[in-house]
Amino acid sequence: MKLLLVEDNAEDARFLGALLHRSDDVELVHARSLHDACGALAAGGFDAVLLSLQLPDARGMECVDTIQAADGRVAVVALAGQPDEALAVDILNKGVQDYLVKWEDQGRTLLRSVRYAVERKRSALQLSQLAQFDPLTELGNRQYFQDQLQRATARARREGSRVALFFLDIDQFKMVNDTLGHQAGDQLLQEVAQRLATQVRAGDIMARLGGDEFAILMEGVSSAVDAGNIAQQLLDVIEAPFGIDGHQVQVTTSIGITFYPADNNDTVRLLKNADIAMYQAKDSGRNNFKFFTERMHTELVEYHELQHDIAEALRKQGFHLVFQPKVNLTTRRLQGLEALLRWDCPKRGAVSPAKFIPVAEASGHIVPLGYWVLTSVCEILKRWEQAALPLVPVSVNVSTRQFQQADFSRRVAGVLEQFQVAPQLVELEMTEGLLMQDTDAAHRTLHELRTLGVRISIDDFGTGHSCLSYLRRFPIDVLKIDRSFVHEVGESEDSRIIIDAIISLARSLRLETVAEGVETNAQLDFLMERGCFIAQGYLFGMPMSATQVEPLLREAQDDTVRAPACAPPRPARATGS
Ligand code: C2E
Ligand code: CA
Ligand code: CA
Repeated sequence: MKLLLVEDNAEDARFLGALLHRSDDVELVHARSLHDACGALAAGGFDAVLLSLQLPDARGMECVDTIQAADGRVAVVALAGQPDEALAVDILNKGVQDYLVKWEDQGRTLLRSVRYAVERKRSALQLSQLAQFDPLTELGNRQYFQDQLQRATARARREGSRVALFFLDIDQFKMVNDTLGHQAGDQLLQEVAQRLATQVRAGDIMARLGGDEFAILMEGVSSAVDAGNIAQQLLDVIEAPFGIDGHQVQVTTSIGITFYPADNNDTVRLLKNADIAMYQAKDSGRNNFKFFTERMHTELVEYHELQHDIAEALRKQGFHLVFQPKVNLTTRRLQGLEALLRWDCPKRGAVSPAKFIPVAEASGHIVPLGYWVLTSVCEILKRWEQAALPLVPVSVNVSTRQFQQADFSRRVAGVLEQFQVAPQLVELEMTEGLLMQDTDAAHRTLHELRTLGVRISIDDFGTGHSCLSYLRRFPIDVLKIDRSFVHEVGESEDSRIIIDAIISLARSLRLETVAEGVETNAQLDFLMERGCFIAQGYLFGMPMSATQVEPLLREAQDDTVRAPACAPPRPARATGS
């Protein structure tokens, strides 16, 4: 054990030296001032410093600070002239291993204290290394990266240079983990780390931030062109197949890039920005890189604000419903209604569902919002029934995310039961995406709904890529022809062909067809000629309030029954060519 005794008082030094020399393994070096001590430490090799707090060139805390700055790895035992509790606490908080009072703690205790101090320092150093280390890949971890980022940006600030930050995420990592197991996943991470290492230069900083996320920091890469070239090389090196556990595994990466200080000069934000850019790279098809832009940030902020306001509107009853008529084209009577959400946000004014529904879907708020819609529709149906108004079925839009809730059909049943509403009066509109899943759970839920007696309609039909054979397997009542086809009837032969195909498909499967977005008489004529007899659109009525619907219900009295049969009127159709 090599010790440095820093003590200017000759008598004290002699005494302490004698105590310490009683052990053979102690090599003692004596310094008389802080200045000399620093000089000795610079030579290196010391395990501990026994440091007097009264020196010719410094006293108290200053002695500790100077020694720690001179050598961060050496254990320090402070020696005070007389006891001072407050100073002792301060000094120990600085990470000094022990505080002794001269002449008080003597004999064996001194040597033991020094030995313990060395041990304590060693484990503290090890801990701080472990805290920054990823044992799997032997790279630094997130903590390490943050530290290095701080340092690199401080340097760049002084030198007026730039730092490029690359944020990488493996695109198919979860799949590898799920199909080949965690061990294979771990091996893949190790090999990815090794390949990335071949692409970084000495002085670049690389870390595994967690999971399948890696980050690389490059100082002196200042142009987007250079950074783009580097990112492309990183993509290429990962794309080559890996041999993992006897399997050939191929994965791709998505990379987000950001620059200090151009994009931001807050290091936490910097990492976040690179993360945002990485997500954009994923969104635009994976296996590519994206530079962070302020616009990405603005969009994310807007998304969060919108989501926050949706949550608040949910709590404060900020949503309401409007109803758009569906009309039977042969009788021109009201055939049904579609409930549509409206939101008059105190901050933003009226927000279109086209804008807030996707955000509610992404954030999960669509689930409670969807149940709010269903509940409100049943409440209104009940109110109309009590007012002795004739009723027509009301459609409710159901998002896939809501449909996927394990208890969806049970909750629908619960709401119907609560308001004592006939199930035939409720139609659920869902999109094709639901059919494409073709999972057991989707089948089960649809059959439960069918058993319950609610009607099921496929919304925006023709826009998805649903395999038509799925249609046969699912219990469905209605296909809604998407309004984009209806709009193009005049101009597009393709749209006319698609509408024809949907109508004949529906007929062969004994489904009802409803055309949405009908705005002109020309569109109406075409639909009737081809055999679609139910339509919805501005030509027949805009979405309106519940009160505005009431006169329409009264007019419809003659044709409607209280619980309309599932089978729609199917007039003999004109034989269109
Ligand atoms: P959607 O289900 O296809 O609803 C029909 C949309 O077409 C409505 O827009 C309606 O106002 C509009 N529309 C009706 N007639 C015409 C027309 O003649 N011409 C044109 N150009 N448009 C017409 P809205 O109310 O803005 O709703 C947009 C979408 O938001 C809906 O499309 C639906 O996907 C979603 N949405 C609305 N309410 C709800 C809801 O309660 N739950 C869920 N999950 N989604 C909803
Ligand atoms: Ca709809
Ligand atoms: Ca639609």
